[in-house]
Amino acid sequence: MRLTLVYGGTFDPPHNGHLAVAAAAATAFGVPVAFLPSADPPHRAPTEAAAEQRADMVEAAIAGDIRFACDRRELRRGGPSYSLLTLRELRAELGPERPIGWLIGVDAFLGLDRWHAWRELFELTHFIVVERPGRPLEAMGAELASVCRPRWRDTPQALTQAPHGLLYRLPMPLRPESATGIRDGLRAGHDMNAQLPAPVAAYIRRHGLYPSGV
Ligand code: ATP
Repeated sequence: MRLTLVYGGTFDPPHNGHLAVAAAAATAFGVPVAFLPSADPPHRAPTEAAAEQRADMVEAAIAGDIRFACDRRELRRGGPSYSLLTLRELRAELGPERPIGWLIGVDAFLGLDRWHAWRELFELTHFIVVERPGRPLEAMGAELASVCRPRWRDTPQALTQAPHGLLYRLPMPLRPESATGIRDGLRAGHDMNAQLPAPVAAYIRRHGLYPSGV
């Protein structure tokens, strides 16, 4: 069955690494990717750009690309952006049978056991895990590792045959970009254009975000 592919994040700002990850997943699963910018992430430091600005930047980054969409539901809902609530909403809309895949970088996945009601997430979605430089998946805590062990599958197809609860490691070249690195670079007055989609760089400049050196 066709998988619904979602990509949650703060996107503060969205960068070329995010686009490369989403493109690789869209290709592997043959479906579009819905970016889900967060309103108020409970398990991270406050974002620098406002939620509406981050969502605007995602829309600017993906404009005109039919492989991608931006879903602003977490902004509309208000309150903390628990992925659990978003996934319950998606599950209610799609019904119990439809496979859902949550695209996630390994750094975020390694902290999954700190997410609100994290075990229930496996009753709602699959996770498609993407490696990042310097963050080996093997660094996973023992409890999370034991929950994950029986769930790993080797092919995208395996995830289309169950609605939730499985894991797939997306093979793709490592991407060095990080939003924190980009914000720091901009603050230091460096040109970060090589790591940003051109419409995002233009938005940052126009709105004076991350006291801008773009
Ligand atoms: P920060 O550097 O501040 O942690 P970020 O670059 O990770 O930010 P997020 O908006 O937090 O940006 O990322 C959204 C999702 O994309 C997360 O699951 C994150 O792990 C993943 N991700 C971000 N950058 C990369 C990358 N270069 N390679 C693989 N996954 C990535």
